[in-house]
Parts: sequence; structure tokens; C-alpha cells
Amino acid sequence: MPNRDWTFLLDTPAFPADAYAPLADQLAAILGTRNDVLLIQAEAVLALEAVATSLARPDLTALNIVTSPYGSWFGGWLSRGGAQVSNLQAAPAKPITIEAVEAALDAEPDIQILAVVHAESASGILNPLEEIVALAKKRGIVTVVDAVASVGGHALEVDRLGIDIAVIGPQKSLAGPAGLSAISISKAAWAFLDHDNPPRDSMLSLIDQKKQWLEKGRGALPGTPAPLEFYALRAALQRVEQEGIANIVARHKRAASATRSALQALGATLWVEKDQASALVTTAILPEKIALNDFAARSWSAGSDLTSGVGPGAERLVRFNHTGRRASREPVTANIDAYISLLKHFNVAHDAIPAHSALTKTFEGPN
Ligand SMILES: *Cc1c(COP(=O)(O)O)cnc(C)c1O
Repeated sequence: MPNRDWTFLLDTPAFPADAYAPLADQLAAILGTRNDVLLIQAEAVLALEAVATSLARPDLTALNIVTSPYGSWFGGWLSRGGAQVSNLQAAPAKPITIEAVEAALDAEPDIQILAVVHAESASGILNPLEEIVALAKKRGIVTVVDAVASVGGHALEVDRLGIDIAVIGPQKSLAGPAGLSAISISKAAWAFLDHDNPPRDSMLSLIDQKKQWLEKGRGALPGTPAPLEFYALRAALQRVEQEGIANIVARHKRAASATRSALQALGATLWVEKDQASALVTTAILPEKIALNDFAARSWSAGSDLTSGVGPGAERLVRFNHTGRRASREPVTANIDAYISLLKHFNVAHDAIPAHSALTKTFEGPN
């Protein structure tokens, strides 16, 4: 990090009251939705907790799909509020199968809410979102999607798919600030949120947000909003608009495809098939010869971002981060070069030349 002068971040003017609604509208456009979009003045985990806390009540039944720690937390927050939660756990660090979801819904015909994470940056998997939402829709179930990591990395068409609640954050694929998040909410979801005993006078209350912002004409947000975060969000969304959301999604796809083909050329074992892989990070199994501790203790060359997977089952995965600004040729190449130096260091047989040709081919070839 260069030695910047951070004092210029002080004495920022308030974010203009009439500029919040346009941000919500820009986010709605990115999500392809006409649903209400709330701006949450906190990192996306709080937005997820607000959704669960605001939905939860003793007579609510939910199917909660768990493919990472985020899903576990979501189920925990619903249970804390008294809801009857069935947690449907995927195989460790793998996507859920549509068959498992269908069987769970068949076994419990009274389910009212289904929650699922779209793409996981913890393990690099992609859940079959469109099929899951379609199954839920057919049964009149309200859907909640954690799209914090996936928005910008994968097409996310809220209205076309019929997603009732989508939670997003700007800090992953959209390359924006981490201190804010947003939630889109359909009419059907509002009907569930407007129950007898919702949380009130709380940062976790979506009904508060509705009464204090949506119903007051979407002007100033309540409290003292953090102006730096909102200016940063505005700048990030301007950059998103300039590039175009479809191009950003395509850039992630290309970064993932380049990483996968280079790793294959290096003889790596990829963790999941292409159609089950997220475009945010790519995961491969750490070669047997390399101890996990040795991998964790290694210092990496500048510009690369290799870490272990996060969460149960992901421990022995090498995670190649190509999210946000990293979804481009230079960072992807830096990741592959760092991996090659790892293989060299531990005497794992490999050939670097075809890996580099795979990168060239993907980045210079047609889409
Ligand atoms: C990143 C992420 C979040 C937000 O959590 P942080 O780790 O605090 O950034 C929530 N859900 C998913 C699926 C994520 O990838």
C-alpha cells in the first residue's frame, strides 16, 4: 500500500439527501428488478441478519440450504427468532443438487421460505439458482438469495427468475465499498415481513426501513449515514455503468475460464466441474506432496492472491481469487505464476509453458 495521505477522507460533506434513491435505482437496474431496493448502512452480513431476523416468527417454516458458513449463520438467525428451520446441507464445500432440494421440498410440503447462497467465494462453487427458484415458485414458496458475492460475477436476474429477496454487497464482484449493502424485496416478501411481531426500532428491522425511508419518499436515510461509504458506492456504480454489467460478468467468466485452463495444463485437480464453478474464485485440490501448513506459511509474490478455501471441506483447496478488479489478465497471470513457483518449490512435476499458452489463448481469443 503506498503511503497515502488519509486526512483527505476527513471533513467530508454529508451525502445529498436526494442522491440515495438514484443509488437504489442503479442497484435495481443491476439486479434486473422492479422490486423495492433498500440501502443498508452496514456490511452485507448485517443485511443477511436483518432479513432472517425480520422474517423469523414462531409459525414460519423455512428450508435453509447450507453450502458455506454464511448459510449456517442464516439458519441460526431464523431459529433464534423462533422459526422452524430445516437445514439442507450440501456435501462439504460442494454445490447443492437440485434433486436434494426437490426431495426436501417434497418431504416438507409446508415450507414457506427457501434460502440459498448463489455463488460461494469461500469454496468457489455455484448453486443451481435458476432451477431452485423455479422449484420454489411452483410451490408458492418465498425465496431469499444471498447474492453478495455473485452480483457482477454472474448474471443475476431477480425479476426474470422471481427472486423475492436478494441480498447484495458492493465489495466483491462490483469492486465497491464494504461498509454498505442492499436488499431487493418483492410484494410477496413484504407480506411475510409485515407480520404481528416484527423487530422495530432496530438496525435489523426491515419494516423500520420501509416506514422510515420507502414510505417517506426515499429522501435522507435515518440516522447519520456514513458519507464516505455512499460516495464510494456512487463512484463504484458509475464505474459499473461505464463498463456495463454484462461486460463485468463476461470479464469474470473469462478470468475463471483462463484460470481453469491454465490449472488443467499444470496437471491440477479442479475442485468442481465448470458448470458447478463460480466465476469469482477458482479452487483446486492442493497437491498431496504439499502440507497444508507449508502452503499456509508461504509468502506470495506481489499481485497474486492464493489462499486456502474457507469452511468445512474447503481446507485443502487452493483458492485463486479473481473477483472484482482481479477479474482481468494481470492478476490471473500473477495467480498462476505464484502457483507455478509453489509447484517448483515443492518439486511437484509440471510444465509451465502450456499453462501460459492457455492464458494467452483465453485472453486473446474470442469470448
Ligand atoms: C462475502 C460474502 C458475504 C459477506 O461477508 P463478508 O465475509 O463479511 O464480506 C456474505 N455472503 C456470501 C456468500 C459472501 O461470499
